[in-house]
Amino acid sequence: MTETLAIKNLHVAVEGKPIVNGVDLTIRRGEVHALMGPNGSGKSTLAAVIMGHPGYEISDGTIELNGENILEWDAAERARAGIFMAFQRPMAIPGVKMADFLRHATTNVRYPNRKEGEQLIPMREFRKELREKMSQLRMDEEFARRYVNDGFSGGEMKRAEILQMAMLRPKFAILDETDSGLDVDAVKLASQSIAQIGREQLGGEQMGILIITHHDKLLDHNAPDFTHVMLGGRIVETGGLELARELYTEGYDRIRAAHPEDAAVEKEMAASEKQQGIGVA
Ligand code: ADP
Ligand code: MG
Repeated sequence: MTETLAIKNLHVAVEGKPIVNGVDLTIRRGEVHALMGPNGSGKSTLAAVIMGHPGYEISDGTIELNGENILEWDAAERARAGIFMAFQRPMAIPGVKMADFLRHATTNVRYPNRKEGEQLIPMREFRKELREKMSQLRMDEEFARRYVNDGFSGGEMKRAEILQMAMLRPKFAILDETDSGLDVDAVKLASQSIAQIGREQLGGEQMGILIITHHDKLLDHNAPDFTHVMLGGRIVETGGLELARELYTEGYDRIRAAHPEDAAVEKEMAASEKQQGIGVA
């Protein structure tokens, strides 16, 4: 049976302020979903909540992995169960080398019952795999010796996230604006890499991917089976690749006109964001 990640009637709030207002979304392994929408529509919040970020209140709904509600699972449990998220703005971990970080993370995900302090994947085996993946992604080996995201350029951070995805081989991957801050060539390479990793078989099935993006370039090699548009904390339309292209070239005017209530919520959310002085990067 195809494995599924299903979000059902999800409502999310921060400090009592609703941000996600009833999202339904089912991703099957082997499918590519694109999630688009204006800034502040709740895309990153949705992604963070799927991964188990503790800073949000789930006021209603469920997130189910193969039918099991995972809302009570912490982020580490979700990662071990095969869910992965590439951050829009990943954190730097000065003092921790990429290679060590990846060796720990990879071991933990591949051996979910491993306890802290127990054996890691043997160095030689790990190095070989890391080197292969890095060469596939056309990354310099020097990269693995640097501290995680410490002083990385925007582009390097995104590539580090893709390398993580390649090593962890998740069942479901959520990529939050993995194209932001990249030049055209880098987006092309990222698009190819994601496609290559996504098509690898794991346990007989490919990855299920949710790509959050503003552009259609990342989708060049990852044509979405479904494109979803988020506005005011809801998915207001779902279509195919043509919808992604439309949004990229035409923007969101038609969407706002077709969904005036959600557009009103969007306006309210943006206004309260201004009041609180929360910047939109
Ligand atoms: P998107 O990724 O679509 O641009 P976000 O999910 O980042 O949207 O943000 C949606 C709304 O939720 C914005 O108004 C943002 O300010 C608000 N928001 C998100 N996270 C927090 C938080 N931790 N605290 C307060 N407000 C937040
Ligand atoms: Mg975002």
